[in-house]
Amino acid sequence: MSKQRESDRARRFFQRAQAALGAEAYRQTLQRVERTNPADFLKDPLRWALEWHQDIEVARKKSRRLGQSYYRLERAIWLDETINHDSSFGQPTTKAELWNELYEAGGSNQRLKPGTVTIPTKNESPWADYTGDKSLSEATTAVHFKAERRVRKAEREALRKQELTLESLDELDDLLDSIGTNLAGEAQSIVEDGGRDVIGEGVDNDPGALAYMRVTDGNACYFCVMLASRGAVYRSKSTAGHSQIRKFHPNCGCSAVPIFSRKYDYPQETKDAVALWKEHWNGSMKDWRKAIEALNMKNR
Ligand SMILES: [Zn+2]
Repeated sequence: MSKQRESDRARRFFQRAQAALGAEAYRQTLQRVERTNPADFLKDPLRWALEWHQDIEVARKKSRRLGQSYYRLERAIWLDETINHDSSFGQPTTKAELWNELYEAGGSNQRLKPGTVTIPTKNESPWADYTGDKSLSEATTAVHFKAERRVRKAEREALRKQELTLESLDELDDLLDSIGTNLAGEAQSIVEDGGRDVIGEGVDNDPGALAYMRVTDGNACYFCVMLASRGAVYRSKSTAGHSQIRKFHPNCGCSAVPIFSRKYDYPQETKDAVALWKEHWNGSMKDWRKAIEALNMKNR
């Protein structure tokens, strides 16, 4: 199998497994909000956020491990050498073992025979030890702005009207539904960021990596298509100006992909994004947005 084909296969597995983790977090959050009484968001929002965050962390760590396994395999495919992370410090491995590590991280039962060609492993890990600080701060912020404040506002309205009507009860149901989808989108994004963040961190700290790119799922919003159309952002050009390329919005299906070789051929989604940019960008973000949204409507 060519390097490119094997790499495409690894990427697609990573993307599918990431989407599954995100979808699971989305579903779990909807259920959690359904069990919630709107007043709970006012009584103790921090406690709500902490419990929610515990759920999210389980999936986020899975996503992180998935991203690390994917990174290790991609590196081995292109450079015939890989790097460590906590689970396999200093141990030589094989390509098949790296594939199996990826399958396992992605929750698949598929396994390859271990194989005999040894892939050397470097000792330095590009990844800092994990802390849940970032995701906790994202979770508490989301609960504050997307739940607590909105319920408080509804409560003020109800007090002003001074009576509870069937209509206001309906409104409360609608509000809870809306809070549910909002927080579910946040959960999806916090979880999938687990796997996306380690790709960025890997590219930053691994001398073997060349570039980072954002790949859409083929059905992205105008903003993501724009970022994806930039293709590989090479490290030598400094990543500072490209920080946006590493930010993902709620419900975003985009992936982070590391590049280790100049021979790398862009995924179809990236080629499509580049072609769209060439065809539709005329200097106006408004026009660009309209063009991409019209295409997305047509493809639905
Ligand atoms: Zn996106």
